[in-house]
Amino acid sequence: MPDSKLKLIQGNLLIDGKSTNPIEKGAVLIKNNTILEIGSPEIITPSDKNSFEIFDFSDKTILPGLVDCHVHLNGFGDGRTGDDLALLPDEILTLQSAKNARESLLSGVTTARDCGAKNLTTFMLRKAINQGITIGPRLILSGRAIAIIGGHLSYFGEEVTGNDECRAAVRQLIKEGSDFIKITATGGSTATSYPWRPSFTTEEIRTICEEAHKFGKLVSAHCVSSEGISNSLDGGVDQIIHCLFREPDGSPKYRPDLTQKIIDKNIFVNATIHQGLESLNNLILYQNNTKEEKNAIKKLQEEHSVRLEHCLRMKDAGVKFVCGSDASWQQYKLGQFYKEIVAHTTIGLSPIESIISATLDSAIACGVDDQVGSIEKGKKADLIIVNGNPLNNIENIKNVDTVFLDGIAVN
Ligand SMILES: [Zn+2]
Repeated sequence: MPDSKLKLIQGNLLIDGKSTNPIEKGAVLIKNNTILEIGSPEIITPSDKNSFEIFDFSDKTILPGLVDCHVHLNGFGDGRTGDDLALLPDEILTLQSAKNARESLLSGVTTARDCGAKNLTTFMLRKAINQGITIGPRLILSGRAIAIIGGHLSYFGEEVTGNDECRAAVRQLIKEGSDFIKITATGGSTATSYPWRPSFTTEEIRTICEEAHKFGKLVSAHCVSSEGISNSLDGGVDQIIHCLFREPDGSPKYRPDLTQKIIDKNIFVNATIHQGLESLNNLILYQNNTKEEKNAIKKLQEEHSVRLEHCLRMKDAGVKFVCGSDASWQQYKLGQFYKEIVAHTTIGLSPIESIISATLDSAIACGVDDQVGSIEKGKKADLIIVNGNPLNNIENIKNVDTVFLDGIAVN
């Protein structure tokens, strides 16, 4: 078939990622890598029968390619710590990233935003994908996350102090190919960091945001405590990741004032709901848990129920959630984005809202909604075909049959 031939993709149901109403018996007409028309096949089928090729998925559902706004391509998802991961040579991490990118794409993720990787590893992976050496989703890359000395993810290679170094780090990352800036506004699992304490000063965050925004780049902030959320909001970040309301002593305390500030600033929260649950499920799977493991199970269960409660309250207040897996961090392997989409239905999102949070809203949060995230005329032909109807059962989102990236079936 010549590349220029049109493709007519027919489904039983078409979910466009934008509207809450699916199109029954919907179809998509593609020219090269672009969506030409969507609608019922009677209307959009070209009159010249030789000008197009039919892809008949009339017992399946067509959706936009999924947009995972939070991945760590360097990761293994086998429970090892980031501190251990960062000891591996860049060459190994780049190869692991290639493996993850491939699995992610084949599972239906056609756009993935990497939120922190070592040195140049993800930039090199993108070069390899662009040269056709390997396959992967469209990548939106931060490169190294910006951290304070000893802060979360500082082992990836970007530790800064003070406004000048913050500004320099942004400029350096953009020079190397960063599409957005990731900062760790609090500590995290990194051994030398303090999870319940803020890392940067508000002034430093403001400098990073000003410099990034000057070049049209968005800033996302890892925040696992309330002070870090507060500083990030005051500093002007565009997205809060994790968004845990924790006091400096680690105790949970819901903060309606910060929730209201998030709503007023109209920014997305990437809640990473499934991450802890994956660790919990893995522990429960083992037989004969040790005493330490039993304690860990209890702690994870308590953390998860607080998490759900806080997310439900944020959702009720009007916070916009965007789906990003945080895989392959800790135990959560890439290629299972559906688990985070399913988890969003446990904090009050309907199946269609969860799908939108993993497609168009995620694309908006990543600043790429002019190109991807929904099935719309003029956008890139990134589509997935799934068996069953995910609106009846959201778990069906994992039953991926075919993935189209740039109009080409990759599996
Ligand atoms: Zn992360």
